[in-house]
Amino acid sequence: MATGKINVSVENIFPLIKKFLYSDHEIFLRELISNATDATLKLKHLTSIGEAKVDFGNPQIEVKIDKEGKKLHIIDQGIGMTEDEVKKYINELAFSGAEEFLNKYDDTAKDAGIIGHFGLGFYSSFMVAEKVEIITKSHKDEPAAHWSCDGSPNFSLKKGKKEDHGTEIILHIAEDSKEFLEENRISELLGKYNKFMPIAIKFGTKTETLPKPEGAKEEDPAPTKEVDNIINNPNPAWTKQPKDLEDTDYKAFYRELYPMQFEEPLFHIHLNVDYPFNLTGILYFPKLTNDLNIQKDRIQLYQNQVFVTDNVEGIVPEFLTMLRGVIDSPDIPLNVSRSYLQADGAVKKISSYISRKVADKLNSLFKNNREDFESKWNDIKIVIEYGMLSEEKFFDKADKFALYPTVDGSYYTFEELQEKIKDAQTDKDDKLVILYASDKEAQHSYIEAAKGKGYEVLLMDSPIIGHLMQKLETSKENISFARVDADHLDNLIKKEDTQISKLSDEEKEKLKTNLEEVIEDKKYTVQLEAMDSTASPFIITEPEFMRRMKEMQQTGGGGMFGMGGMPEMYNLIVNTNHELVGEILNTKTAKKRERLINQSIDLARLSKGLLKGEELTAFIKRSYEMVK
Ligand code: ADP
Repeated sequence: MATGKINVSVENIFPLIKKFLYSDHEIFLRELISNATDATLKLKHLTSIGEAKVDFGNPQIEVKIDKEGKKLHIIDQGIGMTEDEVKKYINELAFSGAEEFLNKYDDTAKDAGIIGHFGLGFYSSFMVAEKVEIITKSHKDEPAAHWSCDGSPNFSLKKGKKEDHGTEIILHIAEDSKEFLEENRISELLGKYNKFMPIAIKFGTKTETLPKPEGAKEEDPAPTKEVDNIINNPNPAWTKQPKDLEDTDYKAFYRELYPMQFEEPLFHIHLNVDYPFNLTGILYFPKLTNDLNIQKDRIQLYQNQVFVTDNVEGIVPEFLTMLRGVIDSPDIPLNVSRSYLQADGAVKKISSYISRKVADKLNSLFKNNREDFESKWNDIKIVIEYGMLSEEKFFDKADKFALYPTVDGSYYTFEELQEKIKDAQTDKDDKLVILYASDKEAQHSYIEAAKGKGYEVLLMDSPIIGHLMQKLETSKENISFARVDADHLDNLIKKEDTQISKLSDEEKEKLKTNLEEVIEDKKYTVQLEAMDSTASPFIITEPEFMRRMKEMQQTGGGGMFGMGGMPEMYNLIVNTNHELVGEILNTKTAKKRERLINQSIDLARLSKGLLKGEELTAFIKRSYEMVK
């Protein structure tokens, strides 16, 4: 038997490593299973080119708990190591790798977001074990080797007892890591990190029910048998070719990824590139609600089928982090910090590739089945609108398929909308006025008025739509958005047949004074207008720019204006051709006039949703008095 001292400069790096990756101890299992997988795949390669003279067969990796002996075993049937190889790969490589890792990341230990995901390899077993043994036999015709080490630089290496090629790693679990002797804990880890690894992983056995033999009686129990419990799917959908998969396969894989998710995805996007970087994966569009926060972090990042993280920030464009699914790439550097990742050229390319693929897929869905696309629009619009706002390239692509629904459920692309309204909806400067409502119920009377004039009214109700409208106004020529209650429609949209006022200039002057005397509230600006006598006598509107500023303040742009609350500002539009307005003008007693004006204005406020609380109560009381 040989003993020796591993050549590392740090006397005992074991406690260091243990402390260093404190929160990430559990990754040891993934590291060891990754090594076992590599060793198995290497053997597969060697047998396929005739270099290894063993039968590859149907190898497994087994994870076994020995609770009494306080040991955890990881056993593979891979390439194995000779004694010399153990010296080289374990004593030199593994340990120097660990030391290098420590030197490199000492200062940035805090930035552990992604550090620690990879890079420690075999040595990470010392985070949970007080002693580690390796019993290994090479596929070459050489005796087995038995290595053992307690984490200090001292190791022992002797001949081992093992007949078949492969490696068994035995971890003597440390007192403070006993959780890793619990079946549930190991199950959880295998499910998290190894669910889609390419070699079958066995963990215990399970009982399988067999078909009843012929002639068995109804009451006879079905026979059972103990079979290996294989915890992974070695051939997950994303590793296959799209042409070999049906829609049902994609849906089944979605359920495999999210067993607790009962809702089906709306559609999927299969990613597959090998140049200038390697990336495969499947992304799903789930049904989205308007709540942006809770839905993130559902995309899983893998590296060669090994789970790395479900935080894909920086790799997937921000606006797509609401999607679900898997991406797998060996080209994403993992043992680096997030800020480094975001500046990395290859990672940037991956991000823009994903964004492009998503845009192309959406475009083909739109083109091939517009009806279906329209029916899904409500569930996907938030992602698309967000993308149009945050990425210029995505905007250019999405501009062709982004939809603008009307309050009556028709869907237009921007171009179609322009075409549709170009003759009817322009303002004095010949700009197109796009009318929209943000709330069908609250703005009902305004919507009806606009529809009555034959205008199209869009329904724009997503939380970021205000920002998107601004973006459209700056990137498209000669258009502007106006909410249906932003101003009186006749002011917004140029009309050929202007109404003639029934009132003389003198009468108008008098009316205005009367109104302003009663409405002391400075937030209302009185505007007299000659409209159709059947239109409302009083309408309250809120200037578009004013309302947008207020809205932006609410959605976070507050600091921009350097002030607290925006003042309230409304227009009170008075239809001088309405009978009631004539009546107000001709009322002799000031008291009655005041009552008429107050009641009318309250009705206008009620219709705009501005009458609340005490004022509403007073209004209702007053109205009962009047009808009595
Ligand atoms: P890495 O896997 O990153 O190379 P490790 O420290 O995990 O680093 O392992 C060092 C080396 O030890 C590996 O490159 C491999 O040659 C060898 N090795 C580790 N585990 C096994 C195994 N289960 N079977 C065969 N060789 C192994």
